[in-house]
Amino acid sequence: MEIYRGTGVSKGVSIGIPHWLAAQEREIPRTLVDDREAELARFHLAQAQAAAQQELFYQKTLEKATAQEAEVFQIHAMLIADPDFTEEVEKLILEQGVCAEYAAQQVSRQFSQMFAQLEDAYMQARSADFCDVGNQILAELLGEEAAAACGGEPYILFAEDLLPSQAVQLDLDAVQAFVTRQGSSVSHTAILARNMGIPAVVGVKFPDRLPAGPVVVDGEKGEVIFNPSPEVLLDYQRVQQAQRSYQEQLLAYRNQPSVTPAGQKIGLYANIGSPGDLQAVLENGAEGIGLFRSEFLYMDAQDFPPEEEQYRCYREVLEGMQGKRVIIRTLDLGADKQLGYYQFGKEENPALGCRAIRFCLRRRDVFLTQLRALLRASPYGRLAIMLPMVVSLEEVRESKRLLQEAKAQLQAEGYPVAAQIEFGIMIETPAAALISRELAAEVDFFSVGTNDLTQYTLAVDRMNGEVSNLYDPAHPAVLRLIKEAAERAREAGIWIGICGEAAADPKLLPFFLEIGIAELSMSPKSILGLRRRICTYQPEEAAR
Ligand code: PEP
Ligand code: MG
Repeated sequence: MEIYRGTGVSKGVSIGIPHWLAAQEREIPRTLVDDREAELARFHLAQAQAAAQQELFYQKTLEKATAQEAEVFQIHAMLIADPDFTEEVEKLILEQGVCAEYAAQQVSRQFSQMFAQLEDAYMQARSADFCDVGNQILAELLGEEAAAACGGEPYILFAEDLLPSQAVQLDLDAVQAFVTRQGSSVSHTAILARNMGIPAVVGVKFPDRLPAGPVVVDGEKGEVIFNPSPEVLLDYQRVQQAQRSYQEQLLAYRNQPSVTPAGQKIGLYANIGSPGDLQAVLENGAEGIGLFRSEFLYMDAQDFPPEEEQYRCYREVLEGMQGKRVIIRTLDLGADKQLGYYQFGKEENPALGCRAIRFCLRRRDVFLTQLRALLRASPYGRLAIMLPMVVSLEEVRESKRLLQEAKAQLQAEGYPVAAQIEFGIMIETPAAALISRELAAEVDFFSVGTNDLTQYTLAVDRMNGEVSNLYDPAHPAVLRLIKEAAERAREAGIWIGICGEAAADPKLLPFFLEIGIAELSMSPKSILGLRRRICTYQPEEAAR
């Protein structure tokens, strides 16, 4: 039995079969081989297997998605068999006598770099495809299963790190837990795991070779156990049973209002990334959607999604929520949220760079398309629109102008648009909190993004596990900024919510109640536990 420790970022226990995430970047050493012809044959076999795998993925994707979404696997199959690519790998093996893994990695990187430098956006997008292709041949050579892409049997996902763009390609029904070597508690891997209600442990130094048998992931203790003894396995099966019965008890709170015994109401809303999350939202009795991270729609696509596709997606969410408030955040791209089909310029500090609203105000074509889609969907429910990463009044005013422009266009084209659409901003920079008096005069609501607010206030990269000990959403500086925004909101007569991960932290509940937070938005799976806490809340908890 071997125990590996990391940071538990999503609670719960899972027991399952481990799988490496295919298509991961890792350094293959330049190993020389004795038999070059045999190595060539290994490469050809892996190439054929990887191509066959693409056909399988293509068919599987077709079963649950559109032909356009499945097309990527056809492109991959073509690139795997590309004659120039094949010739270069063959040359490297035959002339230098290197192993097939090294040759495949080197050549796919060369091709990827070559494509990245081309002018044409479509060709540039092939750069990421070549990386993927190289990794898939590598996975075949190393005998790893590409479980992440093809789904099927339940498994525990092991990865170096998990980028949002990789996460959107996973068959999430099959993933029982995440274990990564990198990552932090507010990385999107952690958020995704909490959304799914599955355990996750990050920062685990596990070995390359995973065991064939079951592993245990304990998201509470931050432990991953390889080859558990029968006693340990039995203990964890009991913990799982206890978890299940706790979840069942919580169901009693599903249709209860979120009101303290003293009569203070605080709405419990859900954070989502796609219409696929709606079921969990409804099952967990959310009172609305407090944050729809619309960028996931863009990351799960081959190109910027057209207006019609976005409109259908937003409409589905609005209709699904049957008149409850749905806050859709406009595109928050950049930093760790990258696109396969669009290259952001090279930035030294992407978290401080051209992300979120800054990107939208530069790419007005992209922004207007989203605003039009949102407005077209607005008659189908209670829509609220929210801007991310605001630092100035001008950004808000300019966005409002664009929203008016989109509205005027649609009305001229004969589309109906809802009469009432709330318009709000995220408070996730110290600047926004400090000018919240002025900002409050421009908007209908604030929603505090504690993930970024903590990152920018404390100057701690939220993605960097090395400094995660300094990352503290309960730091007095962060709380003082939230309080400032809450007071200015109250003075201006607008409401304020919290939609960062801290919203679900029961230790912060007394503070949120005290400063008059109207709504807390979190992973659907966190709602019932917090509602129970609110319904049984005693003011003396505040003193603790
Ligand atoms: C936040 O920053 O708190 C937030 C909710 O936005 P995201 O995590 O998507 O950056
Ligand atoms: Mg944010």
